[in-house]
Amino acid sequence: MHNNNNELTLSAPLSGPVLTLANVPDAVFASGAMGDGIAIDPLNDTLYAPCDGEVIHIARTGHAVTLRADNGAELLLHLGLDTVELRGEGFSMLVKEGARVHNGQALMRYDVDKVALRCKSLVSLLVIINGERFQARPITLREVKVGEPLLHIVATQPGVDPDVDPALGSEVSGQVRIVNRGGLHARPAALVRQTAQKFQSHSQLHFGGKSAPCESVMGLMGLAITEHADVRVSCRGSDAEAALRALLAVLSTVPAGQAHNPRAEVATPRHAPEARSAEPGVLHGVCAAPGLVAGPLVRLQGIQLPDDPGGHDAQAQRQRLDAALTQVRREIHLTLENARARRNADEEAIFAAHLALLEDPLLLDAAYLSIDQGQAATHAWSQSIDVQCQVLQELGSTLLAERANDLRDLRQRVLRALLGHAWQFDVPAGAIVATQELTPSDLLHLSNQGVAGVCMVEGGATSHVAILARGQGLPCLVALGSELLAREQGQPVVLDADEGRLELTPTAERLVQVHEKRARRQARHTQQQALAQTSAHTLDGVEIEVAANVASSQEATQALANGADGVGLLRTEFLFVDRPTAPDEQAQRQAYQAVLDAMGDKPVIIRTIDVGGDKQLDYLPLPAEANPVLGLRGIRLAQVQPHLLDQQLHALLQTRPLQRCRILLPMVTEVDELLHIRQRLEALATEQGLDERPQLGVMIEVPAAALLAGQLAEHADFLSIGTNDLSQYTLAMDRDHAGLAARVDALHPALLRLIEQTCLGAAKHGRWVGVCGALASDPVATPILVGLGIRELSVSPPQIAEIKDRVRHLDAAQCRRLSRELLDLGSATAVRQASHRHWPLD
Ligand code: PEP
Ligand code: MG
Repeated sequence: MHNNNNELTLSAPLSGPVLTLANVPDAVFASGAMGDGIAIDPLNDTLYAPCDGEVIHIARTGHAVTLRADNGAELLLHLGLDTVELRGEGFSMLVKEGARVHNGQALMRYDVDKVALRCKSLVSLLVIINGERFQARPITLREVKVGEPLLHIVATQPGVDPDVDPALGSEVSGQVRIVNRGGLHARPAALVRQTAQKFQSHSQLHFGGKSAPCESVMGLMGLAITEHADVRVSCRGSDAEAALRALLAVLSTVPAGQAHNPRAEVATPRHAPEARSAEPGVLHGVCAAPGLVAGPLVRLQGIQLPDDPGGHDAQAQRQRLDAALTQVRREIHLTLENARARRNADEEAIFAAHLALLEDPLLLDAAYLSIDQGQAATHAWSQSIDVQCQVLQELGSTLLAERANDLRDLRQRVLRALLGHAWQFDVPAGAIVATQELTPSDLLHLSNQGVAGVCMVEGGATSHVAILARGQGLPCLVALGSELLAREQGQPVVLDADEGRLELTPTAERLVQVHEKRARRQARHTQQQALAQTSAHTLDGVEIEVAANVASSQEATQALANGADGVGLLRTEFLFVDRPTAPDEQAQRQAYQAVLDAMGDKPVIIRTIDVGGDKQLDYLPLPAEANPVLGLRGIRLAQVQPHLLDQQLHALLQTRPLQRCRILLPMVTEVDELLHIRQRLEALATEQGLDERPQLGVMIEVPAAALLAGQLAEHADFLSIGTNDLSQYTLAMDRDHAGLAARVDALHPALLRLIEQTCLGAAKHGRWVGVCGALASDPVATPILVGLGIRELSVSPPQIAEIKDRVRHLDAAQCRRLSRELLDLGSATAVRQASHRHWPLD
């Protein structure tokens, strides 16, 4: 076992379940007043020495023994609670005061039945009674067997004993009152750590009879320092005076922003509206993917690990963990830089705290120790986090308990880095998942695990996760507010995404009603599906192509089976979203060809890579920007990384047949951008000796492009309207903003006017216009889009049959007449109401 002068791993002195002191049914031990330590509810009859040391005290009544370990830690081993009252009956001490004992030596035997019957509890304690100089770090909180590693103790004054080493200088200390709202939780603790790290001296905080080194955020949080508490700071070293001054200053300063915003410290990083809960038992959100489902509400807990057989090579596992930690640190650094660039102080503080936690000796030591015992890196990391989460949760502070979420986040991130793609969330099929926010790859994982629906505290209806949810036919509500996560787990709920409702306490009748409604919908869907393979014409004979938005060749296969007339948008950035490295030309060609092959003889529109803004790719880190959605994104990448676009065009030109492959350019704002890509395409095609050229289209997703549609259409083969970004840029509302999610509605009359302009501009040059944004999948919008002149709708695959059915019930001439009137309305809500009036949905 790895021990040195300062650090010591104690082995279990008893066998049985492990408890933190806070859970011991004894006020004095539970409060930590006797010192820090751990407890075991014993199942055996002998107490063993947890380490080498000397017996310095034996209780007269033989129920407790104190050892001094070789590093100076004094350990009280106390068998049972209130066992002093047994006056020695049932205990037989096997060692004497002054004896030298070795780790694992039997110290005391006791009569389990007799003691259990006559005392309050058998729960036994291992407490460090000179805790001012030591810190206890539990290694496990599961059941242990005698001799297994239990507790790690670290001298809080590393190196030589300071009392006898004048070279380290004398200790300086000072008292300060904590002004931080909510006490010393993760973010202020990270600030203390950062300050202490600027000095050579070793600094500690002392509170409630316990101490913690300033380098450990976990240790500082473990002191459970509350607001207005008086704490002592001590520093020892060459620059102790300066360190003390700096630490006292940081502890007595109210962080920026807090003075004006009392909730700043507990607020979530991005603004999420509180749920509009006028109706009791119902949370209201914004529909990101339609559907009606019932199921148990399950909060996303994390990745499920299979049992670890142990016996792993410690060296290899350490390397794995180190590599994963390095990767996650790099990712967090990027996020941090980004938050800094956007001057988002809240986010910056949170991620700075995450970084500090990732370097925390408490977490790392415990994980490395378990690895040295033969555990896998995944399990060692996970266990180390679980132990600290439990410690935080038992400190009696809601704020610190909430910080366990930060730890879980890090558990997750590091596990993902360790497992690559081979991981699963711990969620049963059929569950309705509640979560803060999801990444696109999380959503795909959940969908594959068969969850019934997803609810998020934050997010927007046109975010990329929402797009993927629609693609998977997975009902999804966003912007539900933080109350969502306070709900009880496992309760049956109804997710009515169409109506933006999460019903938390449905009655049995309501559940039956949901079930019947789903059955009716299913029947209608089956009917619609029967006609899905035929093309859709309006009653007066106008053909509307209903294509699909897809993210992979698997989705393309599904889309074709669902009746897609083609692929209207392949978001190439999604094809490689899970990759840590950039795909080369060959990998790209194969991926594009796979989609073309999956679509039979139908056309496939492939959009060139659209990164930047809210779409980040691990393998393509872009410089941080002050306003990322107004920065270098979409086709503007050609300006900074032209080779990337060239590589993609090259790969696209190698697909066959070229006549089915259509290329689409995102975020175009002026004609030159289109002309430039046309020239590149021409040059590359000539280089390859091709006599055919793929069609080249332009996305209309910036108001400038809609207003220039005529000029663009002169040089483009077709136009495709991206209503998600067009809404964001026209309405000046972030498409991912939870607080604005309900208002980012592409049926706003201003957008309808831009759509009309686009169609008129295209018509001058005989070009067709499609819509590939989320509006195309909304049956309320179908008659309006048809009326304004749209001839292709690219929708999420599960909705193809429904939208085709909708088209077949419309009269294009009537749509044209009525939608003109809608342009004069004053809001998206008014347009929606009018659409319901003119073209009711059943
Ligand atoms: C859009 O903006 O509407 C669009 C289709 O592109 P994306 O959602 O990928 O930005
Ligand atoms: Mg877009």
